[in-house]
Formats: sequence, C-alpha cells, structure tokens
Amino acid sequence: TGTAKSNMEKAVFIGLMLLGQLERMNGEAMVRDVETARQVTAKILHLIQTQEKSGKEVMSKGSSGMEVILASLENSRDVQTTLNILYILSELLTVGEGRRMGVFVSKGGTGILFQILTSASKELPPSEELMLQLHSLLAKVGPKDRKFGVKARLSGALNITISLIKQNLQNAKLLLPCLQVLRVYSANSVNAISLGKNGVVELMFKIIAPYSKKNTSLLKVALDALGALLKSKTNARRAVDGGHVPALLALYLDWHRNDARHRHMLIRKGLLVCLRNITNIKLGRKAFIEADGMRILYNTSTECLPVRTLDPLINTSSLIMRKCFPKNRLPVPTIKSAFHYQLPHVLPVGPVAQLYSQPPGVDDVVDESDDNEETEAETDTDNEEDEKDHRTLNDDIETDLNKLHPTKSPSRPFEELRVYERFFLELSEDFQVSIFYTGVKQEGSPVSATRHIQSPLLLGDIATRRVGGGGSDCGSEGAEDEGGEGAVLEVPDTALLLPLHDPDLYVEMVKGTRSVPQYAEVAYPDYFGHVAPTFKEPLLERVYGVQRSKIFQDIERLIHPNDILDKVVYDLDIPSCPVIEDSGESLKFNSQFESGNLRKAVQLILWYFFSGMRVGTTYRFNIINCEKSNSQFNYGMQVLMYSVQEAISGRPRWVRMGTDICYYKNHFARSSIAAGGQKGKSYFTLTFSTTFSHKDDVCYFAYHYPYTYSTLKMHLAKLEALRTPHIYLRQDVLCETLGGNSCPLLTITAMPESNSNDHICQFRNRPLIFLSARVHPGETNASWVMKGTLEFLMGTSPLAASLREAYIFKIVPMLNPDGVINGNHRCSLSGEDLNRQWQNPNPELHPTIYHTKSLLQYLAHIQRAPLVFCDYHGHSRKKNVFMYGCSVKETVWQSNISATSSDLHEDLGYRTLPKILSQIAPVFSMASCSFVVERSKEATARVVVWREIGVQRSYTMESTLCGCDQGKYKGLQIGTRELEEMGAQFCVALLRLKRLTGLRNHQHLLDLESDIIGTHSPTTYVMEEDEPSFLEAIDYSAETSNECFHLSLPEFNRHEL
Ligand SMILES: [Zn+2]
Repeated sequence: TGTAKSNMEKAVFIGLMLLGQLERMNGEAMVRDVETARQVTAKILHLIQTQEKSGKEVMSKGSSGMEVILASLENSRDVQTTLNILYILSELLTVGEGRRMGVFVSKGGTGILFQILTSASKELPPSEELMLQLHSLLAKVGPKDRKFGVKARLSGALNITISLIKQNLQNAKLLLPCLQVLRVYSANSVNAISLGKNGVVELMFKIIAPYSKKNTSLLKVALDALGALLKSKTNARRAVDGGHVPALLALYLDWHRNDARHRHMLIRKGLLVCLRNITNIKLGRKAFIEADGMRILYNTSTECLPVRTLDPLINTSSLIMRKCFPKNRLPVPTIKSAFHYQLPHVLPVGPVAQLYSQPPGVDDVVDESDDNEETEAETDTDNEEDEKDHRTLNDDIETDLNKLHPTKSPSRPFEELRVYERFFLELSEDFQVSIFYTGVKQEGSPVSATRHIQSPLLLGDIATRRVGGGGSDCGSEGAEDEGGEGAVLEVPDTALLLPLHDPDLYVEMVKGTRSVPQYAEVAYPDYFGHVAPTFKEPLLERVYGVQRSKIFQDIERLIHPNDILDKVVYDLDIPSCPVIEDSGESLKFNSQFESGNLRKAVQLILWYFFSGMRVGTTYRFNIINCEKSNSQFNYGMQVLMYSVQEAISGRPRWVRMGTDICYYKNHFARSSIAAGGQKGKSYFTLTFSTTFSHKDDVCYFAYHYPYTYSTLKMHLAKLEALRTPHIYLRQDVLCETLGGNSCPLLTITAMPESNSNDHICQFRNRPLIFLSARVHPGETNASWVMKGTLEFLMGTSPLAASLREAYIFKIVPMLNPDGVINGNHRCSLSGEDLNRQWQNPNPELHPTIYHTKSLLQYLAHIQRAPLVFCDYHGHSRKKNVFMYGCSVKETVWQSNISATSSDLHEDLGYRTLPKILSQIAPVFSMASCSFVVERSKEATARVVVWREIGVQRSYTMESTLCGCDQGKYKGLQIGTRELEEMGAQFCVALLRLKRLTGLRNHQHLLDLESDIIGTHSPTTYVMEEDEPSFLEAIDYSAETSNECFHLSLPEFNRHEL
C-alpha cells in the first residue's frame, strides 16, 4: 500500500503541476502554442482516466480547478484541445456527480458549452465528434441546471440541435445525444412552443416507429421529448391536426402485441404519456374517442391486468380513459333542490341568487372545456413554478395585520342588544322569592312548542304497533307487501341502555318538527334508537386496485351500452310518486323522513333474480354527486347501515359496513354554477358494495350516525328530567328558524349554595362558557359530541358538580335545525353556508346566527365575554379530533409577513385547552390543531368571535367522521360512544382549565405552557388534506358486482370547509 500511496501522491502532484501549466497557458498562449495545449490537456485526461483519485484532487483544489478547466475551454480555438477538455469534463462529471455538477453550473459551464456549440455550428461541416461530445455533456448537465432551458434558447442552441437531428436521422450515434438534449429543452414550456413552431413535433413523429428490437433507447428518448413537447396545448393541437392520435394508438397496439416479454415497458409508457398529454385538450379527447381509443385502451389494459409489472401502463391508460369519458350532466332535471321553499326576500347576490336567476334548464350544462383554461402565455416560466407553489401554500393565510387585531368596537348600540337580557336571567336572578327546585323558570321550552300538523302523520300507527306488535303495515319503505308472513314487529326495549331515548316521546317530538316536504313518516332507526355495538370496528383495509377496477366497470358500461338497464327506481322529482312501482324485481328506495336525502336512484345492471332484496347478492351502490376532491372513504371509512330486522331481533344499531369502498372523480360534469364559477370540474363518486343478511329487510344507509332535530328535542326533554335541586337548567327558545322551528338555547350551571349575598354573587360571577354545534347539518358527529357534553353537564358525578359550580354554560346545540330536518349536507334553507355568515348575519335569512351573535355581543357589552367559545364540527378528510383556534403570532409566523414585536407578544392561553384535551382525550390530537387565521375563514364563528367579541379562546372543534390514527383508538373507526366520550372529556378539560387559570401564581400554567412551547414549534399549517393522495399500490382483484345503482343526493354543496 505504501507504493500505491506514493503512486497516488505522485499522480496528484503531476495533476496539480499540469493544471498549473494549463492555468499559465490561458489566454494568448493557448492560441499560440496549440501543440502544448493539446499535450497538456491530453496528459490531464490520461491522468484522470487512469487515476480516479487525482480527478477528485484536481477538483478539491477549491473550485479553482474547475475554473482553470472552464477558462481553457473558453479560450481554446483548437478542436482537438476542446475535445480533450470535453472528455476531461465528461470524466469529472460522471463520478461524484452532485457536487461537481453544482460547481460546473455555478461557474458558468453551461453557458460556455452553448458558446462552443454556436461557434462550432458555424464550421462547415461541423465536427461530428465535437457535436457528439457537446451534446453528450449538455444532456448530462441539462437536468441539473435550473436555467438550462432559458440559456439554450438565448444562445440559439435550439435551432442548432434541431438541424443536427434533421441531418442525422440515420446516424444513431449522434442522434441519441441530440435527442437527449432536446428532451431537456422541451421541459421548458416556452421552448416547447418554439420547438413546435419549428416543426419538431412532426419531426418526432417521423422518428417514433412500430415495434422493432433496434434502436430502442433512441425511440425511448424521442418519445420522452415528444411527451414533453405535447404538454403545450398548441403542440397537442398540432398533433391532433396532423392525424397523429390514431397513429399513436396504432403504435401502442403494435408494441402491446409484439412486446410479449414486456422488455420495453418504458416505450409503451412513453406512447401513453403522449396520448395523455394530447387528451388534455378537448380536441385531443375528441380525436381519441373517434379513433376508438376507449376500446383500444380498455382491451389492452384488461390484457395487462395479470402482469403486476405492467401496472404503470394500466394506471396511465385508466387516467386517459377517465379524462376522455364523455362528460354527462347529472341525471336530474335541475341542480336546484327538488323541494321548493320561498325565502322571505330574495338574495341580491351570491351563488344562490345566481343559480335561481338562470332560465330553467341551463343551470346544469355540461362544460367540456379543458381542465386548465388559461391561454398559453409565451413568457418565461423558468422561475415561476417555484414561486407559484410557495404562493398557493400560503395563499389563504391572513396577512392584513388590521384583520388580525381584535376589534372590540361595538358594532351595535346597546339599546338594540338590551332585549337579549332575558336570555341571561342567571346574571340578575336574586333567588329571594323563588324556591330553589321549582323556581327556575322555563320560558317557552322548545320541547313543548306544539305546531299545527299539516299532513296526516303515520306516527300513530307505529305507536300502536309498539304495544300490540305483529303489524305488517310499515310506515316507511312501502313494506306492506314485503313485511313477510309472521314477521312480528317489536320495538326493542332500550330504556336501560339508552336513558335519553324514548320511542313514544320521539314520535311526539316529530309532530312539532316542520319540514319543507312535510314529512309524515318516521325512520325506524330514529324511532328505535341506536345502541352502540360493543365490538370493535377497525378501519377498513383498502383492497389494492379497487379504484381501478371500479373505473373499469364504469368504462365497460360505456363501451357496452346495450347491457345497461338504466331503470329509475326512485325519483323525488316526481312528487306524487317518487317510489316507482314495478313488478317487484328491484330494490325499493325511500328517503321521505326527517334528514333523509336521496333524490334519485337508478338501477344500472339487472341480473336474473326473483324479487326484492336477495340474500347473498352483492349490490354495488354509487353516490355520484359528491363534490369534495378527496374523502376518508379512501382511507378506511365505511358507510353505516341499520337493519330493521336486526333491530327487532334485539340489535338496534348502526354498523359500519361496505366493501370495495372508494371515492374517485367521475364523468359527471359540474356546471360552473355548481362549481362556484370554475369550469371543467367533475363530480366524485363514492362507491361501496354490500350484501344483505335478511330477506325482505328494510335497511337504512347513512354517511354518519344520524342525529335529527327531533332527536335533539327528545334528548333535551329527557335531560330536563335529570335535573336535581342542585342544578340550574333553563331552556329558552333563542329564535325561530326560517322553516318555523325553534332554536333551543340552554343555560346550565349550579344553583347557588344559598340565597346569601356571597353565594348569589359567586353564582352570578361565574365565567361563561359558550358552546354551539351542528351549523353544518351533515356533521352529525358534532351532535353526538354535544350530547356527550350535555349528558356530562347534567350528570351526578362530583366532577360535573364542580364544573357547574365553576361556570355558567350557554349552549346552542343546533345552529341549523332546518338544514338538519330537510336533509341538507351543508347549507341552511337559504342555500347558504351559515358558518360563513357570522360577519354580517341577516336577521331574516340567518336568524340563528344573528341571534347567537347578538347574545355574544350583549355579553361583550356587559363585560362578560365568555372565557371559552367552541363551535363543534365534523371533518370529512382528517382523522382524530382536533381544534382550530386563532393566534396572531402563529399566523404571522406562517405567512412571513413583517410584524412589529408587539404583534408577536401574545398570551399563549389559546393553546392551553387543546393541550389539556390532548392529554386526557384519547381521540384528540394536538398535532392536527392549527391556530392560523385564514382569509377564507374570516366569516366563521371562530374568527368572528375572536376578533369582534374579543374571546381569546375561540375554537372550532373538528371531530373525524372516520376514525383515529393515534391514541387508544388507533386503527378503529369512530362510533357514538367515542364521540360522546369526547364531549364529556371536553367538560373535564374545562375544569382543569379553571384550576390552571385560577391559580394565584400561575406557576402551573407557566409550566404547562413552557412545556407546550418547548415541545412544540408552531403547529403545521395544512392547507387541505393531511392524507397523501392515494396511489394505487400493487394488486388487482376482479370482482363482479351483480347489481349496480346510481344514487344522487338532492343538495348541491358549493362551499367546502
Ligand atoms: Zn363544519
């Protein structure tokens, strides 16, 4: 080794010596003494080729080694010397690529290469060897130089490479590096357009060829370059006009058939990528359909299915087919609701006004425009990409410091707010005359509000059956002919398990509930109640390839339209007869009960069977008008089903069910009105399959555990009965909704210990906690969490007693009763998202928001703003339970806006409650919390209560609709038990918050908060989804579902949370 070492040292020494010699030669000498220049460069090359270490050594001499080499390259006028230096660079840049390449680029190497290319091209004929070496080196450097595309264009290199390609179509050796460089040029969109103008798209179509074992690497590079060129819409149009879509399909088919051993998957993929990019334009999709592309790709994909390694081909084919699938409008006459409700006054502006001002029939027009409407700007986009990414990430963060500072300025005169005094009797109550237990007044309890019943209720029948049993006259589902002989309908006795449930009371409550369609039926699950199952319901493991196989089934129906039954079996747009009667061969559907929301059901496939619901048959259901771009249905969530047969057998419960679940973009076009002005948006399909265990059963499906307005009223009535002499409970009617339903307001606290002054004073001065829920009707989980909170607050535990003694609770448990009753997912009867109306609620159109805000404004006026405000919500795209709060500091951190130090001086109190929750509630995740104020949320309860009312601890609490990926319930779907537990733990956390904020020296709080600061940098700000976009992994299972239904839900939801 000693000899080897000394040999190496010697080589390094020689290397440095030669480099020194080269350095001294720079400039004049280089031109004068051509012979020496050749010799020195040849010696360096030899040294580098034989002694790898010396190459590194040359480069490790700071970066001056590279500088010397580049300077020589620039000065050399001799082809041989230039070639020698190019060989040297090629050797150097092949090993230890990253760092050396960085040095090469930063020292201007790329520019020098282009310079030499330009001057060499002027020689006639240009040296082939020089061109070959230059392009080989450029191909290597190109992908590492972010400015490569611009440099190439400005130096005029594009045309040099093009003419070289044209002149050397048969010269594979030179053609290959030229195409490799062209591939890099084309990645720049401005270059792609300019190359297209110069006929390069046509040129590439000349190079790509049918199956052959020769020159496959050349073909591969040409396809890559073509693929990159076709990203430009003008180039894609050029390819369509040139008739190349059928040609590409024919080539793909040829390679598919001949490449039997799958050696050339990359070429096949390259062909598909070209098709994929061409079909980004409308013209391309048309050409693809006309060339029978759907059938060709469907058939080839089907043949590829058994070979796992061909997955990329199947996935790209599937992507192209989905894009080209002819767009349809939803199979409903209008995207307006099937129900009609006259608003007290018509909204002047906004999406709803826009929708209703359209002439009939134009509200849901199919828009075939390209996904990306912007016309191609021929500007330099080299830098813009990065900026754009950065911008969208932070786009929604509030950067206006004025909007980040609480404004406590009174927006309304106190005279106007004084009427709200009556909702705060506890703040003035002196208890001097009242007897404690009965003394609490009940002002117009919503529970006792009776209404004129406007339609014949079928409710009485149910009650009778409950006593007698055995009746077969089902109120819903038209089950009279399917009740089955001898089926005895017995109401399960759940009194012990469900202390707040009472079927008779429920029916009474329904009578007072006003729905727009005037529902006259009661859904069995609401009537029987839901007893949470004791078994675990794990997150569903996704079957590999499920999305693909579902999409293929959709495509198969398109290719074979004659197999489609397309039979409407339920249609709410036929008001007299939505349940379409037939010979009983189909499933029957109904949704005409509180919170029901099925608009139309279409049966697509029919197989031979007898009648009605069949045991063992797999039914596939597609819900086709979903609007969010992703869903927890792709990450383990199942739908819920309630079987009446199971219920009367003693198992009244919703269970998670469904297999082959997935959520994907479908071929139904969303009109620009439905998409909030955006064109070219699609709907999404939720698909699931199930079998039924009982013949002639009545089954209910739900997105999440239902919780109706009537259920709330029943629970409130039962809670009233739990009141003890120590509990102060008052139920007020805050206001009436548009639909004529009462919005309940609850006040819960402890009765004062006595009517002594001290006790009355303590009673009145308790801090307030303000809670609300269910502003979004589809977020039923929020109601279950609220139920947990209410039940805990009314409980007999010492914790509950302490909590009542500590605080006065003001609770609006359902902010959007009309939306809940009428089966809306997100909106109110005015068609608006009520959680976007808090800034300026209209008393007529948004009464619940207007009056709830007024309560808070009243409190702010009398200096009694609540300690905590929390609005309960549900989240469809995340797991666990978490909170959103408001912090100036964290918003400023995230947005990088400059702020004075006073902006950054902020009490960390807003973090305490979520931190406590993360310690005591297993479903709660601190990591998912965010305290950033977003522009799009400026009209939500959380932000308005924080800014205008001045509540520092103003939150939205989001509960997953799916399940947990951390804590005790990790891997399980969430059920009502866990949601109710969360509601109770929220109360416990408030008690702990009281203890922390009540401590004299605040030491504990400081400890806790330093712990928070120590372990937690600002919470990650996640724009939309926390799940990665789903990539189908490696598996395929072909299942056939016997039946297939398309369902669509009545409400269209414009606003995304
Ligand atoms: Zn919500």
